[in-house]
Amino acid sequence: MSAWWRRWFGGGEPSPLPERWTGQLRQIPHSAYVPPALWPRYEARVGTFLRQKRFIACGGLQLEDSQRLAVAALACLLILREPDGVYPPLRRVLLYPDAFLVPQTEPDELGLVDDAPQARIGESWQRDRVILSWADVEAALAGDATNVVAHEFAHQLDDETPELSGAPALPEYARWAEVMQREYQRLRRHRRPPVLDPYGAESPEEFFGVVCEAFFQQPQALLRHHHELYELLRDYFLLDPASRLLWPDAA
Ligand SMILES: [Zn+2]
Repeated sequence: MSAWWRRWFGGGEPSPLPERWTGQLRQIPHSAYVPPALWPRYEARVGTFLRQKRFIACGGLQLEDSQRLAVAALACLLILREPDGVYPPLRRVLLYPDAFLVPQTEPDELGLVDDAPQARIGESWQRDRVILSWADVEAALAGDATNVVAHEFAHQLDDETPELSGAPALPEYARWAEVMQREYQRLRRHRRPPVLDPYGAESPEEFFGVVCEAFFQQPQALLRHHHELYELLRDYFLLDPASRLLWPDAA
């Protein structure tokens, strides 16, 4: 950890993102989705995220500042509209080098608990912690269809409204409910969906996570195949990623 970084994270008054890090933030491919008018807000949220959230290296990971920045940069794309801070309940981000094993505590459909741990690339736990596989964060930065940061932080937003599944806090829900329910049922019927990960058919919560992944990783394809869904998220996130081609084969 460099000296300025320690100073910057040492608490006290909020300070703007240091200039060197503004340059680094612009190197994150997805930051190109942020229009100039929203850039100061984006930078401020990334700075707040880095100051407030404790990163914990797990599984032998050698945590680097650039890794914190990448996670913060991807996570803060989801909260440009949020009026109330930066994932206020979230305290820790645990980062593993790759997929990690978690013990199974949920009974399966037969009521049995399988003792064998399962591999995961991300988890969001009761709003105070998010666990991520760095290899999968990197894959998202390189244009993979999976974006574990978008997925897990969508769960964080979803948990703002424990009484509603698959929806963040919104002033009104009519359009959200109408579009999301119709598209969720469509995915549940579809055997080979063209864009959305079939895992989204598990529940409305997972559907929201999967749709967010597609919005940031395959925006043009999402717009083409599910334009109402795309427009719903465009209006919610205040971003129009289909207007930017980040990867040559993105669509
Ligand atoms: Zn999930």
